[in-house]
Amino acid sequence: MSFFTDDYIEQVRNANDIVELIGEHVQLRRSGRNFLGLCPFHAEKTPSFSVSPEKQMYYCFGCHASGTVFNFVMETAKISFPEAVRTLAMRANIPLPEAAPKSKEAQAKQKERQLLYRVNQWAAEYFHNQLRQPEAKEAREYLARRGISVALVEKMKLGYAPDGWTNLVAAAERGRVPIAPLVKLGLIAPRQQDGYYDRFRARLMIPIADERGRIVAFGGRVLDHSLPKYLNSPESALFDKGRLLFGLHYANSFIRKAGNAVLVEGYMDCLSAWQFGIGNVVASLGTALTSAQARLLKRYTNQVILCYDADGSGIRAALRGLDLLLKAGLQVRVATLPNGQDPDDCLRQKGAEYFLREILEKAQPVVDFQLAMLRREYDLNTVEGKSQFVAAASALLATLDNEVAKIAYAQQIAYELQVPESAVLAELAKHGQASRPYLRDKLGNSRNTTRSVEHATVAQPDPILRGYQIAEDKLLNLIISNQVEGRELLLSWQALDAYAYPADRELVSLLLKELQEEQVLDGRRLLERVDNPEITERLAQVMWTENIELEKAAVVARDCLDKLKHLAINQSIAAVQEKLRLEKDSDERKQLLQQLQELLEMQKGMRH
Ligand SMILES: [Zn+2]
Repeated sequence: MSFFTDDYIEQVRNANDIVELIGEHVQLRRSGRNFLGLCPFHAEKTPSFSVSPEKQMYYCFGCHASGTVFNFVMETAKISFPEAVRTLAMRANIPLPEAAPKSKEAQAKQKERQLLYRVNQWAAEYFHNQLRQPEAKEAREYLARRGISVALVEKMKLGYAPDGWTNLVAAAERGRVPIAPLVKLGLIAPRQQDGYYDRFRARLMIPIADERGRIVAFGGRVLDHSLPKYLNSPESALFDKGRLLFGLHYANSFIRKAGNAVLVEGYMDCLSAWQFGIGNVVASLGTALTSAQARLLKRYTNQVILCYDADGSGIRAALRGLDLLLKAGLQVRVATLPNGQDPDDCLRQKGAEYFLREILEKAQPVVDFQLAMLRREYDLNTVEGKSQFVAAASALLATLDNEVAKIAYAQQIAYELQVPESAVLAELAKHGQASRPYLRDKLGNSRNTTRSVEHATVAQPDPILRGYQIAEDKLLNLIISNQVEGRELLLSWQALDAYAYPADRELVSLLLKELQEEQVLDGRRLLERVDNPEITERLAQVMWTENIELEKAAVVARDCLDKLKHLAINQSIAAVQEKLRLEKDSDERKQLLQQLQELLEMQKGMRH
């Protein structure tokens, strides 16, 4: 949190015109009421980056980067909000306010973090120096074998934790480095009796930095065959491994230039790729990918190439990651490595040229990859295997949005299996209308259901959901633009608990909280302060749309809320239907059918 008052922030915001500011970085030309240019946040050839002088906002239709002057400076200079306020105050020649004292607690917390960063930095220097010592010969040889140059070792401050239990502890004592932060960072641990011991021993040490390049943790790799092969710092006040991608501070400019990011499993693969001149590579630190990591990537690019080990666990990890990446709105391709190899093996054996041309450029679209995985599961030489494969593949294809692609894949499968195309298409038809995952969440899964009365009402989910989404967009626009009194609407909406966009549940409670604390809603203020990209993206999207006329506002708001009531009923219907499907007890069924009947009546009543 900053010590700037809202008034001061407002003053700075008003003194920096967004078109002028962005015009210094991006060539903008007028287009209607807005200005248009090439997006500085993702690689593109046709402009989709729009700046609105009226709204004092920017919005990219390609990568959904959005915000105010402060967001722009924060994103381009990779600085925090208070730093952005300072920068723009200076740009507009507005003197900084007298520094108001922060709360004691906040001050202490910040001091603590600064100390932790310093201690990590000190430890990195220590390990780095140890790598030059005679006893680190094995570590140096290991790096040489993996082709990691001295230059990269220096740049990434790779190091060595010597063998023995108290090397780091002793160095800390010599250097008068406090012990407590070393414990908090997981570099040392207390002994059972007294004293401390080093957690990293006889390991190659790889500093793990955040996107701004600050060292937040270490990864240690053994040099022999002892276990664990990799040991990472535990999570700490600085290190949340689910929110971090290894190498992003180095790779980000390469990612923007390349227009895509390559995601690998471990930091050694990452270092190896950089060594071979492939800079747009980051690693997920060996753990399962998280949605926070996917969103982090999304800030830099729209396209990701997954490049995981070719072994079973690598493929499973890739499959798990796919969903998250797709959900974050990223386009994903999957690179397939030769059997048994990891990216590092492949690079060293075949070289960068081969890796770029044969592995990365030939990465498959997600569906092809998933089909390839399915093929492995069935024996396509038997009739049974063929039919099971077709059933599984159809289920997969049914989730595609694109009808042409669906048919094309079906044709391909038919050709491959030497079965009539009509057979595959018939199987595909069983799955009916493709429903996107969120549709399934919201309206109940309409797949694999028998045609009974119980399911008759859920049909054609796509246009229906679109209708709810439009209502939800409008309602939010009215609330955020303060065209209507938002509090009551928000409360009624929250009570309905029906959302066409799942992320809006959180947004609604955030808006209510903001109203409680600030009395008014200020969309721009929220854009600058909310630290959840999913929410800010949604906010920006809603704010970007044309405001609804004030005279119509109240009526439109009521209509929208009615529409969402309808959605709530539909969702209840879907839930009851699902229960019915599973319920065997006849008494229970009777009750459920009664409930269903009532809901259907309500639904009918609302249409009039
Ligand atoms: Zn963009």
